Amino acid sequence: MCRHLAYLGPPRSVAEVLTDGPHSLVRQSWAPADMRGGGVVNADGYGVAWWPGNGADAVGHRNPAPIWTDPAVLGVLTQVSSTGVVGAVRSATEGMPITAEACAPFTHGPWAFSHNGRIDGWPDSVAALAEWLPAVELLRMPALTDSALLWTLVHRRLAASSPGDALREVVASVLDAAPLSRLNLLLSDGAGIWATAVDHALSVRVDDKHAIVTSEPVDDRGGWVEVPDMHSVEAWPGHLQITEIPGARPGEDGT
Ligand code: GLN
Repeated sequence: MCRHLAYLGPPRSVAEVLTDGPHSLVRQSWAPADMRGGGVVNADGYGVAWWPGNGADAVGHRNPAPIWTDPAVLGVLTQVSSTGVVGAVRSATEGMPITAEACAPFTHGPWAFSHNGRIDGWPDSVAALAEWLPAVELLRMPALTDSALLWTLVHRRLAASSPGDALREVVASVLDAAPLSRLNLLLSDGAGIWATAVDHALSVRVDDKHAIVTSEPVDDRGGWVEVPDMHSVEAWPGHLQITEIPGARPGEDGT
């Protein structure tokens, strides 16, 4: 399964956020430590989004090749700095397209979104959920993947719900339709980070100046909090809230 990371704090180069730490996101692409049976390497492309400042929308760079082959990481991305960065390295779920457009993070306006996991039984299991979306939103999906549908569902919820509620509501409705799904969602607007841990690894470290939410800790400097399964996270510098997501997956109680 893919790995993702969000950073908020003092301006850093986008390249530094991707490569920082002995277990950086770049390293997690070829030597992840906690994939829980979901693939081996994350070599089906990558993406990174950041906020240029002065209230500008999120912008990004995506490449369907492995992150370690892209000269931008040690080149142009060293020259771009931001107070917020979201990065994702991808291990495509079987049968899904390997294109730049299918790589998270997906961006729209201020938002950058990533998904680590899979919708079980895709696409049949969630066809009824997709039917609730206006046809034009389905036609605008960046790629025909489970992650892009999750982003479309989340984005629609953001019109009426807080970011944390939007993620929890989408998790609940997708688990209802496809209970064995793995749904680590990650969302940021450059000021806050919201994420879920649903059958996948997730850690967070917050202090007064920084907030990092990541599939796997990037260093062993301490301060990491492992997010328990079926919990959501809200984080920014100086703020961390971990909330249980209501509902249990079938099988947890032996059923
Ligand atoms: N299912 C998503 C995709 O194919 C995410 C894959 C993953 O987390 N490994 O893009």
